[in-house]
Amino acid sequence: MSVRIRIAGRGIEYPVMVQRGLLARVGALARPHAPGGHALLVTDRNVGRLYGAAVERSLKRAGLRVLRATLPSGERAKSFATVRGLCERWAKEGAGRNALVVALGGGVVSDAAGFAASVFARGIPWIVVPTTLLAQADAAIGGKVGVNLSAGKNLLGAYHHPRAVLSDPAVLSTLTRRALRSGLAEVVKMGVIRRPAILRQLWRLCDAKGGVTPEAVGPLVLASAVEKARFVALDERDEGQRLLLNFGHTVGHALEAGEGYGRFQHGEAVAIGMVAAARLSVRAAGLDPISALEIEVLLQRLGLPTRLRRAPSARFWSALERDKKRGRKGVRVVLCPAIGSAEVYELTSLTTLRQIVMSLVRRS
Ligand code: NAD
Repeated sequence: MSVRIRIAGRGIEYPVMVQRGLLARVGALARPHAPGGHALLVTDRNVGRLYGAAVERSLKRAGLRVLRATLPSGERAKSFATVRGLCERWAKEGAGRNALVVALGGGVVSDAAGFAASVFARGIPWIVVPTTLLAQADAAIGGKVGVNLSAGKNLLGAYHHPRAVLSDPAVLSTLTRRALRSGLAEVVKMGVIRRPAILRQLWRLCDAKGGVTPEAVGPLVLASAVEKARFVALDERDEGQRLLLNFGHTVGHALEAGEGYGRFQHGEAVAIGMVAAARLSVRAAGLDPISALEIEVLLQRLGLPTRLRRAPSARFWSALERDKKRGRKGVRVVLCPAIGSAEVYELTSLTTLRQIVMSLVRRS
């Protein structure tokens, strides 16, 4: 199965393939994009141990020379230091403009390796082989790449589309339950802001005998990828429609940055952020309270966090207000007036959002 990303007027077009067994074909699919015969494989420690050898073999079988770099696992690796390390290594090993970056891993690897590809030698091609549900359903699609700064998430970044996104749902079988659940948050988001049918599929998953298993989430990868591809085609540069993908991310990103990268998995922070956004949607966008509650219950049924253990730190509040500091009138949030639709709002006061965030702190 395959979806194509097409960006009118920019000559950008590439496939997002979702297929079991794709890992073994990475070499053959990468070869046409590596005229210099050089593949710069980037993975992380966990993924490298599980799938690095298979992908390296496939690249070599296709006649490519492979230089492998292994990043530490987790959000902390999404840093400027990582990108610099990759670029220094590639330069030292003589990689040139004809080399192809192959990012094998979750959203952290695709964001960091894609960003390194966007700046090395003023931009070299890359392909991405996403290995988490979150990356297959969302992060690897759409060319947004970047790393975090201590002041906030993704503050250093670029738009640099891969030549192909190669998702093999079979690799989801080795994810921890926590990582699998974390990936479901972005799938829920897609259902809330655009495609309620995805929410119905998720409810069926909760009620199914086996529950949320890697096999059962397979069809959701394609459903989410299709939606993400639509958003990207409509608005490559985040100027309108694509901003809606930030539903739950205003609070989510502030939690990640404010509470220290690594405390929350991205999807967990987004899940809590979506509860806040849904409650705020009731107050400020006319969402019916039952629908907001349904979002919350669905997240709980999927095993995602919907509450905070303690009141957020001062760094959380300043990360939340970053938009204001950048000279905007208010803080931009995405709210949902009804399930299946979303709009961008500018909050001139944070009072209501503050109250809502505090209402999510568990009282023990
Ligand atoms: P991640 O890349 O840190 O992966 C989560 C964990 O799973 C890591 O420990 C990783 O080593 C491990 N792992 C990955 N694949 C595995 C596999 N198949 N089997 C076993 N373990 C495996 O996290 P993530 O949730 O994939 O991505 C989160 C990142 O994505 C965040 O930084 C977020 O900002 C970013 N993101 C980017 C976009 C975008 O458009 N660029 C969109 C959404 C999220």
